[in-house]
Amino acid sequence: MSIEDFHGPHPKPPKEGHARIDWSEPAGRSVSSRVRAHTCGCEPTTYELLAAGGLGLIRQTERTATGDRVSESPWSRAAEAKGLWNDLLEGNAR
Ligand SMILES: [Zn+2]
Repeated sequence: MSIEDFHGPHPKPPKEGHARIDWSEPAGRSVSSRVRAHTCGCEPTTYELLAAGGLGLIRQTERTATGDRVSESPWSRAAEAKGLWNDLLEGNAR
């Protein structure tokens, strides 16, 4: 595993006209989701691609002075979540 793999990629800055992800508070349901990918932890806002039972979502964690603020995209089919993940990394969605 290279250092780059360990740290994860840095998402590109959002492009003009990028898709807006419908972030909301975590639903808090107790599904056992696995982290399939994550962005670099050196940035104040990190993203994780989670998968559970053929579904997926993206979790956003913002480090603030008062603690982590977590929000999540809507659940979608795993393939769609992966597509959204790629859009996020490329700056096409945020
Ligand atoms: Zn980094």
